[in-house]
Amino acid sequence: MQDLYIYNSLSRKKEKFEPLIKGHVGMYVCGPTVYGEAHLGHARPAITFDLLFRYLKHIGYKVRYVRNITDVGHLVNDADEGEDKIAKKAKLEELEPMEIVQRYTDSYHKNMEQLNTLTPSIEPRASGHIIEQLQMVDDIFNNGYAYEKNGSVYFDVEKYNKKNNYGKLSGRNIDELFNTTRQLDGQDEKKNSFDFALWKKAKPEHIMRWPSKWSNGFPGWHLECSTMSTKYLGKQFDIHGGGMDLLFPHHECEIAQSKAANGNESVKYWMHNNMITINGQKMGKSLGNFITLNELFSGNHNLLEKSYSPMTIRFFILQAHYRSTVDFSNKALQAAEKGMERLFNGIETLKKIKPSDSSTINITDIKNKFYSAINDDLNTPILISHMFDGVKIINSIYANKEQISANDLELLKKLYKTFTFDILGLKPESKIDNSNNNVLNSVVDLLLNIRLKAKENKDFATSDKIRDELNKIGIIVKDKKDGFDWELKN
Ligand code: ZN
Repeated sequence: MQDLYIYNSLSRKKEKFEPLIKGHVGMYVCGPTVYGEAHLGHARPAITFDLLFRYLKHIGYKVRYVRNITDVGHLVNDADEGEDKIAKKAKLEELEPMEIVQRYTDSYHKNMEQLNTLTPSIEPRASGHIIEQLQMVDDIFNNGYAYEKNGSVYFDVEKYNKKNNYGKLSGRNIDELFNTTRQLDGQDEKKNSFDFALWKKAKPEHIMRWPSKWSNGFPGWHLECSTMSTKYLGKQFDIHGGGMDLLFPHHECEIAQSKAANGNESVKYWMHNNMITINGQKMGKSLGNFITLNELFSGNHNLLEKSYSPMTIRFFILQAHYRSTVDFSNKALQAAEKGMERLFNGIETLKKIKPSDSSTINITDIKNKFYSAINDDLNTPILISHMFDGVKIINSIYANKEQISANDLELLKKLYKTFTFDILGLKPESKIDNSNNNVLNSVVDLLLNIRLKAKENKDFATSDKIRDELNKIGIIVKDKKDGFDWELKN
């Protein structure tokens, strides 16, 4: 088995990966709160931990990968007060909260499939684990690390911190939190502003609620991950992942909850992917640079010069190390598109190569470089640059400047297939050559010219219908100043 080193956010250094049980890996990753379409911020952790999932399986581990769906308890502003994000969206769209959950879970799954991420082994929902969450509240309460106030239950951070280290993951300490968190205004039920809710009594207007001995209420946001990771992976498991934005308070709270309930720390390796910026700016709805994955795939956003295929997005994310920030721009995405094409062309060239009697190249050397890059904390930018170097060698062989034996040729093909498709999880995207498809071209152009006329006549119902029906059969229409453009969905 390969020696894999990963950076542990807890020890703040790279450690050799040694699972708790030989040959088996338990991995938990915080999934999305499903109240809107998935965006770039969802793509990065999904792809990062998909890469890890794929690689662990490739090197022979049996992996149980759990990624949750948050469908209750995540309040606006990530705090303990305010509306539930899902209920808020439901009110806006005049739907049941669970209709919102279903809609955006489905759309998340579709996007994840487009990005070619493998389905997790288990995908539990918070609302399906209320009983287990209440049990954990009881355990924490009975162990003396929680208190009840007016039907809500809060985690007692100060008490926990007497025997444990609250802040060990994020490097924050209680004194600092005293100074930086909001002062109590006397109305607050918490003893300290940094305490967090395990169970909240629902206000009359709060729709998503369950009965319990404490009150009619709902679980605190952090609790679901402690509960569901324990349920499906045990009181101790190997890897917990998520975006860096979840490190504090979410993951810090998870550590405290699990220790307070189970008596031991649950996670051996904490892993965090870094954030995505857009043209150097943090992504945010108020900044107008919020781009959903569907908008990227269709090109339908004013910041986008064109559409970018799911594999372009995947390749672009993999070209950066997961612990570095990634900046999205049209220029960078177009460079990624070209880079990926170069890689796929190399693989196509490999198929055309005729072997010689002997080799002038060293396959073992290439293979070692690939593995040492990925074993070094999943260093995909280095891996991809070695793969590009390999493409240069492939081109030299094809140009008869180098020779390769039949045996080495098979090894090289296998190596590229394994790393490109199985580990990096890329797949060739069908690009129907429109020039060879005259009938299709003429028919689509005909329809779009009718649509143009309809628009001129302000018959928007017809124009929208044509666009939507074409979209349904996989043709994306893009409006331009001087007419239209269209392309086939990948
Ligand atoms: Zn979580």
